Amino acid sequence: MLCPWHRRVISRPPGHRRCLCCHGAMDPRNQPVDTAHPPGNNRRVRCRSRMVSSIKNTVFSQTTMGWGRSPQSETTMRPSSVLAALATGSLVAAAPSHKQQRTANGDVNPFEGKTQFVNPKWSAKLDQTLRSFLFRGDVLNTLKTWKVQQTSTFVWVSRIADLSNIDAAIADARKAQKWTGKKQIVGLVLYNLPDRDCSAGESAGELKSSENGLERYKEEFIKPYAEKVAAAKDLNFAIVLEPDSLGNLVTNMGIEFCASAAPIYREGIAHAIASLQYDHVNLYIDAAHGGWLGWDDNLPLAAKEFATVVQMAGEGKKVRGFVTNVSNYNPFNAVVRENYTEWSNSWDESHYASSLAPHLTAEGLPAHFIVDQGRVHLPGARKEWGEWCNVHPAGFGTAPTTKTNNTVVDALVWVKPGGESDGQCGMAGAPRAGEWFDEYAQMLVKNADPSVFKWF
Ligand code: BGC
Repeated sequence: MLCPWHRRVISRPPGHRRCLCCHGAMDPRNQPVDTAHPPGNNRRVRCRSRMVSSIKNTVFSQTTMGWGRSPQSETTMRPSSVLAALATGSLVAAAPSHKQQRTANGDVNPFEGKTQFVNPKWSAKLDQTLRSFLFRGDVLNTLKTWKVQQTSTFVWVSRIADLSNIDAAIADARKAQKWTGKKQIVGLVLYNLPDRDCSAGESAGELKSSENGLERYKEEFIKPYAEKVAAAKDLNFAIVLEPDSLGNLVTNMGIEFCASAAPIYREGIAHAIASLQYDHVNLYIDAAHGGWLGWDDNLPLAAKEFATVVQMAGEGKKVRGFVTNVSNYNPFNAVVRENYTEWSNSWDESHYASSLAPHLTAEGLPAHFIVDQGRVHLPGARKEWGEWCNVHPAGFGTAPTTKTNNTVVDALVWVKPGGESDGQCGMAGAPRAGEWFDEYAQMLVKNADPSVFKWF
């Protein structure tokens, strides 16, 4: 038996099986759709108290660079611009210029020597956060927020209407490339599978397989997506493919909706891979996180699932690697090993990458990773690894960098734009997934990793 409202299942040795309740207790299919709400649908989904019971599987909840400034296009002066004018102006020059390095197997790390794109749309959302600190006279956190605004985040394309986000990112990245003379790598998330988020529903999407969703995904989403990035050969792209989806196929097949979505997910992702084969485009398949697929018995299953999908994309079709911890809270290098990691060898994301790498190699897949450090929980913040929703206390994680001290990890990145909610769960007052949650953003600034402020 599974807790039906829970989202992730991992297999564990007998005697270590628990059901973790941390999410709205509703059938995932009945959850509100985050991006396609009918107006006025304010149905709130609240967490129930955690339940621990002996069941067959443990159900886990959402697993899920470079410095540089982006030009501001607003005509009115934003608070951050005022601060920018007061600051030394040295940040443009601060973009690192690493030499091209080769990773262990001889491939070039696509992030090396490039500046990760700073999304002005996300930076603008943080103006509200900055103002909150400024009006309270909190100078330190005002300055910290301003610095966070100069940090790269990925651009999410979570529905057909979001395709215009790609055009905006391309235009802004071109400006930044021209003004700074630094090659930009633009991080994009491709996130619109039919029957999306099959085990939780906080991020259910607009397409349904029962309503011709797969055809629409291919024609109305992947096709224009690929055309847009293909036409921007002067830029480089890192594209995260479908967070959480294949993780669900590895561990959540006991959930009927996930089981029926499985062939759709595989065909959809294989089609995306096949459609995005360009030299300036680097694909990273979502590999959930250490607390989900990092257990010894899940690692080979995950690698097999990934191999199946890449093979389905067709002969010679390639991905650069895998992305971990998207929208989750695991540290890359844990200072404290949390009790809930128990015997797992994947007790932080660096260890997870190292644990998964040989299984990928055994399947003929590239063992390269990027790791989301957009938000990281503070030690002791979670009682269970399965807590995934607006976890607190948390802070912005290590600043995007290629200095990872792990040869299989291309870069640390900020995939989840911190301050955008995970759903109506976790910290009190959380809005729907993707919506701005300023109180949360303020907490992320206060607890941010010092690497974010290295130029102060
Ligand atoms: C939401 C998306 C949003 C993304 C980034 C996801 O959980 O479903 O709508 O774009 O988070 O915040």
